[in-house]
Amino acid sequence: MDTLAINGGKKAVKDKLIKPWPPIGALDRKMVLASLNGGQHAFGPNCRAFEKEFAAWNGNTYAINTNSGTAALHMAVVACGLSAGDHVLVTAYSWSSSATCILHHNCIPVFVDIDFNTINIDVRKIEQAITPKTRAIIVVHLHGLAVDMDAVLKIARKHKLAVIEDACQAHGALFKNKKVGTFGDCAAFSFNQNKCLCTGEGGMFVTNNEQIYKKATQLWSFGETATPAQSRDYHAYALGWMYRSSDLVGAFGRAQLSRMDHYFKTQRANGALLMEELKGTPGLILPTEPAGHTHNWYNFTSRIDMNAVKWNGAPVLFRNAVMKALVAEGVPANVWQSFILPAMTVFRAKNAYGHGCPWDCRLTEPVEYDPAKFPVAQRHCDTHFGMTTPLRTPNGKATVKAVARGFQKVFSQLNQLDIEKILEVKKK
Ligand SMILES: *Cc1c(COP(=O)(O)O)cnc(C)c1O
Repeated sequence: MDTLAINGGKKAVKDKLIKPWPPIGALDRKMVLASLNGGQHAFGPNCRAFEKEFAAWNGNTYAINTNSGTAALHMAVVACGLSAGDHVLVTAYSWSSSATCILHHNCIPVFVDIDFNTINIDVRKIEQAITPKTRAIIVVHLHGLAVDMDAVLKIARKHKLAVIEDACQAHGALFKNKKVGTFGDCAAFSFNQNKCLCTGEGGMFVTNNEQIYKKATQLWSFGETATPAQSRDYHAYALGWMYRSSDLVGAFGRAQLSRMDHYFKTQRANGALLMEELKGTPGLILPTEPAGHTHNWYNFTSRIDMNAVKWNGAPVLFRNAVMKALVAEGVPANVWQSFILPAMTVFRAKNAYGHGCPWDCRLTEPVEYDPAKFPVAQRHCDTHFGMTTPLRTPNGKATVKAVARGFQKVFSQLNQLDIEKILEVKKK
C-alpha cells in the first residue's frame, strides 16, 4: 500500500475530481432569469407551479412551498392539532430542528434512542416512551433511509398519535416502494444547500389531508386564510408566521426538480458501487439498507468498529484521527453531528421561552433529558463519519472508485496513524 497522504504520501483522490453540488445548467439559468424579469417576486407563478410539480413528483395531494425545512416542520407540529404541553416523541439523534420544531409550539420533545444499524429511531423503543401526554411522533428518515413505517403507523394507530415525517434528507427514498412523505399525516422536506434538491434555502410542507393542508396554509402566511388570488383580507385569524418563499427560489427549485429522477438514479448507482467496493473493509461498519427500504444515499455514513481496531481510548479521538487521514486523501468525510439531541444545551438547560417554559408550563408533565439514557445514539455519534458530494450527480464511477481507494488506504494502515500527533493532543 502507498504511504498515507497524512504521512506525506500521494492523495488517493485527485484535486477537483469531485464535482460540486448542485449541478447548475442552462435550465436553472433560464428559469431563474425569467423569474427575475417576470416582476412577480412574491406569490409568483413559480411558487405555485413548484408546489404542484413537487406534490406530483412525490405523490402527495397538497404541497406548500416554505422558506426552510424547519418552517415546514413547525407548520406540521401545529397543523396536526397539537397544543401547548403535549408530548411529542422524536429520535435522540438528528438535526436540532427535528426536535426544536416541537418546542416552537410550546410542546415537549421526548426522545427515543436509535437503532444502531439503521441510525433511525428504534421502533422497538417507541411504545415505552409513550405517556398519557403523548400526542404525536416525528420520524426522521435520517441520511436518506426510511424509518420502518409499518411499525410506526401500527403504534400510532393504537395510541392515536399524529405522525409527522421529517423527510428533510430523504427526497426520493422509498419504504416498500412508496416515497417517504406519503405515510404520515404530513411531512417536511428541506432544499438547503447540501440536500438532494437544492434551492439554497427552502423547504416544502406536504400532506394528503385537506384539513391539515388548510390549517398549514394559514400558519404559513400570518394566520391569514386567503392568498392574493383569493382576494387577501390581511386579517390574522389565528397565530401564523411568515414562512413563504420567493418566486426566484421556486424557479430554481422547478429546474432542479425536473432532474430529480436522474439525480436519484446517480445516487443509487454510486451508493451501490461504493458499498460493493468497501465490502469487508476491516474496522469499517458500512451503512445498511434493510429489505423493503430504498436508500437515497443522501449521506453515506459509516462507523468505526472500535473493538475490531483495538482502540481502547475515547472513540471520538480515534474517529477524528481517521477522518483527518481520509480528508488528507481527498475524501470529503465529516462528522455530521457531534452531539446527540438530549445532550444539546437547549434541552438540558431548558433554554427556550424563559421562565422554564414550555417545560414548567402548568399543562405539562415534567421530563428530564439525561444523555446517558441514549447509549446507542451516543455510540453512533462518537464513531461515525459521513460523506455526501462524491455520490451526487455528476460524480460517477471514477470518483466513487477513487474515494473507495482513499477509504481502503486509510483502513488498511490504521497502525500508521499517529493519533496524538494528528490531533495535536498535548502530552502532560
Ligand atoms: C436540514 C434538516 C432540517 C432542517 O432543514 P432547513 O431547511 O435547514 O431548515 C431538518 N431535519 C433534518 C433531518 C435535516 O437534515
